Amino acid sequence: MNSPIHITFLGGLGEIGRNCAAIEEDGRIVLLDCGQLFPYRHPGVTSILPDLGWLLERKGDIEACILSHSHEDHVGGIPFLFRQISVPIYGSPFTVGMVKSKLESHEVQIPSFVVVKDNEIHEIGPFECEFLPVTHSTPGGLMTAFRTSQGVVLHSSDFKLDPTPVDGRLTDLSRVSEISKKEGIRLLLADSTNSESVGESLSESEIGPIIEDIFHENIGRRIIVGTFSSHIHRIQQIADAAAKTDRKLAVLGPSMIRNVSLARELDLLRVSDRMLLTEKELKNSEPGKVCIVCTGSQGESRAAISMMSEGRHPVIEINQNDTVIFSSSPIPGNEASIFKIHNHLARLGAQVIHSGKLKIHTTGHGKAGELLALHEASSPELFIPVHGEYTHLLAHESIALDRGMDKSKVLSCVDGDRVCLDENGIQVEGRVSDAYLMVDARGVEVSSALVDQRISLGFEGFVLVRLSIDKNKKKLSEDPFVETFGWIESEDKVGWVEEIIDEVKEVIANALKDGLCDQKELTRLVRRTVGKLVDLETGRRPVLIPLVEIN
Ligand SMILES: [Zn+2]
Ligand SMILES: [Zn+2]
Repeated sequence: MNSPIHITFLGGLGEIGRNCAAIEEDGRIVLLDCGQLFPYRHPGVTSILPDLGWLLERKGDIEACILSHSHEDHVGGIPFLFRQISVPIYGSPFTVGMVKSKLESHEVQIPSFVVVKDNEIHEIGPFECEFLPVTHSTPGGLMTAFRTSQGVVLHSSDFKLDPTPVDGRLTDLSRVSEISKKEGIRLLLADSTNSESVGESLSESEIGPIIEDIFHENIGRRIIVGTFSSHIHRIQQIADAAAKTDRKLAVLGPSMIRNVSLARELDLLRVSDRMLLTEKELKNSEPGKVCIVCTGSQGESRAAISMMSEGRHPVIEINQNDTVIFSSSPIPGNEASIFKIHNHLARLGAQVIHSGKLKIHTTGHGKAGELLALHEASSPELFIPVHGEYTHLLAHESIALDRGMDKSKVLSCVDGDRVCLDENGIQVEGRVSDAYLMVDARGVEVSSALVDQRISLGFEGFVLVRLSIDKNKKKLSEDPFVETFGWIESEDKVGWVEEIIDEVKEVIANALKDGLCDQKELTRLVRRTVGKLVDLETGRRPVLIPLVEIN
């Protein structure tokens, strides 16, 4: 009997983000991606990562890490993880370039990198891995076919089937069917992001002419385009539209500058030196001769567009001669901040064009028709939908079942599931933690208890009560000191502080009279008294900080 294969899903199944899976044969692990989820209601948290506890317990068994592509939901956890492990990282030239500079900026010791070319085969850990090109919204996406003792496990990576991608690099579906016919595909793990959308996604190259039309309609005006800094093909089409309408390109924002420079170095982005404006040249250029490409299309508060919309960008001041194009669509959760930026820009007089008005964005993830084509080409014996919200995973399951796969051959998994693939098929054999690992901007872990405290403080404010008791005289040494912040309007503060002081004085006097003089007991009593008072009177639950000293 051949060795079974174990796959542990650490993130990305049930919620988009922090994609990470460990594939294992005979105790030897190859890690596939380690991404982050952007925090949505976690004050002071910069990244949410998979719980790496299980993985780090097994750190001696990890032989390599494969990165499917450069998006943050696939590589965002690498700096944190690589402070603790150092194994070779495999990826396409663009992915490797991005991750290298990410690790440098986090001051993490650089591990060895293996640059993978399309259709190459590498021996990685216990597996032979064949890397196939996929089209996505960033260059260099790679599908991986793992040849294992249990047959071929195919991981689709994030992909779409774009018949006319900007760089002509197609998703290699024909190689998928070849592998399927020659060797058979035992297990398919495939991107579910757009499984609920019918049909096929729009080709990236259909976006270029629409952008170009906007440029033609805005002769004489300054054009500012916000998009993802890793979306090199979109940036290419923006640069081409600029060149055709006699504009030069200014690149703003650190990540945009870094990625444009990397993509030009790798010849993935063709923009000549004379097309590019320096910051100084930008200031002295006629508005109608300029196209600014920058970050911030997702409403990120520190990105260029957001700063412009609030009049705090050091170089660009928005005016009525500006057309601002958002060449992206809102990632769920970001809508409110994006609309706020649209409003601010419009108030400053700019004309705002976004994907809700014109087709200036297309997805990087294949829709149901494209997913079906992957299922047809790979004709897998077994299937696990990955990369999606829970509803996306279910919709992807239906695609497989409708195509005729037996229900017993399709396995629903979520974050934390550990599955076993052997001669009998596939089943969930156990669970590891699916908890959030939250880290701050320094890469230091933040506990959920701390985040909860911050949320309470943010919503309710605090009340601090300090009192000092004379043990011998069995009375308060002085009036209690009360301070509050964020709980009550400042004009009402004096009255409330007096009320709390009076109440605490009375309760403490009675307690001391009854012979109670234990610091812990008295602290509890103050907390209970103040909590009851503020809750009854104001209906709020501020964080209470009682400090009792007994001298
Ligand atoms: Zn992606
Ligand atoms: Zn992704």
